[in-house]
Amino acid sequence: MQIKTAEFVVSNQEVSKCPTNQLPEYAFIGRSNVGKSSLINMLTNQKSLAKTSGRPGKTQLINHFLINKDWFLVDLPGYGYARVSKSAKKTFQKFITIYFRERKQLISAFVLVDIRHDPQSVDLAFMQWLGEHNIPFSIIFTKADKLRPKAIEKHIESYKNKLLEFWEEIPNYFITSSTNYSGKEALLNYIGGVNNEIANETNKSHFQ
Ligand code: GDP
Repeated sequence: MQIKTAEFVVSNQEVSKCPTNQLPEYAFIGRSNVGKSSLINMLTNQKSLAKTSGRPGKTQLINHFLINKDWFLVDLPGYGYARVSKSAKKTFQKFITIYFRERKQLISAFVLVDIRHDPQSVDLAFMQWLGEHNIPFSIIFTKADKLRPKAIEKHIESYKNKLLEFWEEIPNYFITSSTNYSGKEALLNYIGGVNNEIANETNKSHFQ
């Protein structure tokens, strides 16, 4: 899939104020500074659609971007800046958990993790929480350009081993870099493929 148009639609903290049409949406979330804004800008071929910033505590909003007039890319607030907590519920702001629980249009989440870091408990807890709430997700490893191929392999392997302590299967994952564009095609083709499946299902049910 190619992204031809990407438009900012709305920012807010209330799920009830999110767009009401039924387009499929994909939510991007991760710890602050993981490279989420850079990834969104890279995917959408824009310089500053999502605001890149090294600064923690920037306004916490649910941002909807309409892509190809066909689906929503949702930029959720970064989490985990010096927040220590025992449970995911305490860690994540309430409006984010409400978003995940109530947003019917949500097809899948993408949990971003910096490929250089060891598995962080806040990320693992969040994935666990998604699993418990039956919310499909993939992992996006970011900043792959910062490691050599052998080191990437090693980090992915150890991340998988950690995940297998909690999960029977490894979630779907992508290895990306906003600097050298790696993973862009795979990620967009994945979203395009899911959107096609949804469109086919919708057509089928119209003719039944
Ligand atoms: P966010 O807080 O998750 O939105 O992270 P940003 O996109 O603002 O990125 C945080 C920092 O990481 C910035 O200094 C970016 O330039 C840098 N960064 C983000 N993605 C990449 C990447 O793929 N490769 C490299 N080398 N740096 C990146």
